[in-house]
Amino acid sequence: MSDTPPARPIAQRDSQTLLEDLCIALRYVGISNYQFHPEDARKKITEVQSIHQELSRRHFDPTDRLTELSQQTKWRMLDLLEDCLAYPRAIPYVKDPDGIRIHLRCHLCRTAEHPPNPEFWMCDNCLKRVIDAIESKTPINGIILFRTFNTSARCAHADSDTVLAADSWQETIFGNCAKCFTEELQRRSSGLPRPTLKEFTIDLTNVKSFTDIISAFNDGLIKPAGGNWNGNLDAFNDYLSWPPEQAYRLILLGWNRVYPILSATPFHGSQTMLDVITEIFQHNPQVQIVYS
Ligand SMILES: [Zn+2]
Ligand SMILES: [Zn+2]
Repeated sequence: MSDTPPARPIAQRDSQTLLEDLCIALRYVGISNYQFHPEDARKKITEVQSIHQELSRRHFDPTDRLTELSQQTKWRMLDLLEDCLAYPRAIPYVKDPDGIRIHLRCHLCRTAEHPPNPEFWMCDNCLKRVIDAIESKTPINGIILFRTFNTSARCAHADSDTVLAADSWQETIFGNCAKCFTEELQRRSSGLPRPTLKEFTIDLTNVKSFTDIISAFNDGLIKPAGGNWNGNLDAFNDYLSWPPEQAYRLILLGWNRVYPILSATPFHGSQTMLDVITEIFQHNPQVQIVYS
């Protein structure tokens, strides 16, 4: 804990101090960008509102100081103040000098914005350009077009003939088809939020045997969907499609404990249980596996 004495109530601070406190609070809102610590950001936004209210009551205009701060930070501080005052009607995302909100800048053209929490980090116009690129099989800047035999590297709509697009800056290759981009465009124009992926967690942190692994999958995934897995691997493949959600995220907690058990359990010939289960996961691209 810092031993800084608590700040004096706003009404008791002199205007110059308040002006600097306003700058500090605005910088904090700008850095947090309303994403890392929304709770702290909300407190600072409330502080900005209270300080501004007090300065207005004293007819003290912060414009010159905030213009100076904008030049120092390269952020549009007057816009940020305005958004803080409009909060919660507006979310104060900090803007670059060209007026684009940094957090929402399109990764492809870099001159427009995408909506908050998009499926693809690009503006509507770039979504259309990517669809055109896929359909005409003509790559555009920042996008790689490809086909793949790897089911784990393509969307659930695709097969090995489908033309896919991926951002060229991504470290892992994952391609989406024209349908994926078209659906995102439709979702944006309908104003509906992105469906969040349902998560199932399999707690494998204390497993000691294949029997324990079977129980863990039963508890975390299969029993809630109305089934009971006896350890047969063909059945496991089927059970992966039992949850009512077409696509879901499967979090395998403590996978490092499972790994030695499965790789030491022979299945058929030289194949181990680990090989087979890994293969089953690969054949179910609708299940996003998170090894944790
Ligand atoms: Zn764009
Ligand atoms: Zn697709």
